[in-house]
Amino acid sequence: MAWFKKVRKPIEPRAKNASRVPEGLWVKCPSCAEIIYNKDLVGTLNVCPKCGHHFRISASERLRMLFDGPWQEFDAGLRSTDPLKFTDTKPYRRRLEATVAATGMNDAVICAIGTVDGMETSMAAMEYSFIGGSMGVVVGEKITRAIERAIERRIPVVVVSCSGGARMMEGALSLMQMAKVSAALARLDRTNLPYISVLTDPTTGGVTASFAMLGDVNIAEPKALIGFAGPRVIEQAIRQKLPEGFQRSEFLLDHGMLDMIVDRREMKATIARILRFGGRGARAAERRRATADIHAPAAVEPRSHPAEREASSQPVE
Ligand SMILES: [Zn+2]
Repeated sequence: MAWFKKVRKPIEPRAKNASRVPEGLWVKCPSCAEIIYNKDLVGTLNVCPKCGHHFRISASERLRMLFDGPWQEFDAGLRSTDPLKFTDTKPYRRRLEATVAATGMNDAVICAIGTVDGMETSMAAMEYSFIGGSMGVVVGEKITRAIERAIERRIPVVVVSCSGGARMMEGALSLMQMAKVSAALARLDRTNLPYISVLTDPTTGGVTASFAMLGDVNIAEPKALIGFAGPRVIEQAIRQKLPEGFQRSEFLLDHGMLDMIVDRREMKATIARILRFGGRGARAAERRRATADIHAPAAVEPRSHPAEREASSQPVE
């Protein structure tokens, strides 16, 4: 047995780049360069108190913001099976595993049912941090089921888009989701239930080209990037300089692509107001049809895709 024993532990080396300020305590607004205390952002729903810049938020934060209280999540366990065995810089399967571990989600959307100002609503919120919020087979399937669930329960649908478009690692299978979700929305339309599309920064590619633009009411957050192809691709294709503010919410509203731009802090109240209006209208239309055999024209004709309008004029099976 040794006479002397080292009882004190050696001093731990200082971590690299150690800072006394905990990480993420302050954030700099990318729009006005204001330094904002992170806790202040919680109170403003992640909107810069100085200039109104809307920071990107996660899908669960989005649901927390829009629902009255707890919600019931559906299809949380659905996972992509990597049908093409795709590999880019690394195998898609490994990319999925890493993203699942980092985000705690199985794919890029949360579908849930909860109440918005007391009204039961089927909602889907996309998660940008999951491979750019891209729409693969799982996202398409989950949103389709969310719409079908709404039809079953006769409740409205709200989809909050935040996506880079279709997921290229699932190739044509991800493109098929555009048609699948659109077809489900057509069935919803025939039941007179309202569908509100909320477009946030960014909403691009196949998501814009399908369900994001098919809302009875299309609402965007201020200054959100919304488009199909990127500006560089368009400039090269049409050989013209694009105008200022191209593909931003305000530009799209001016050109009739959106119905309104709503500040995030007003979003829930606005959605509730529209649902109350649309919900009552839908119920009234149903009553009319049930009691008398007349088709009173609706006060506001819901907007739908031109191709869809054609399809719905066909006799319904
Ligand atoms: Zn700011």
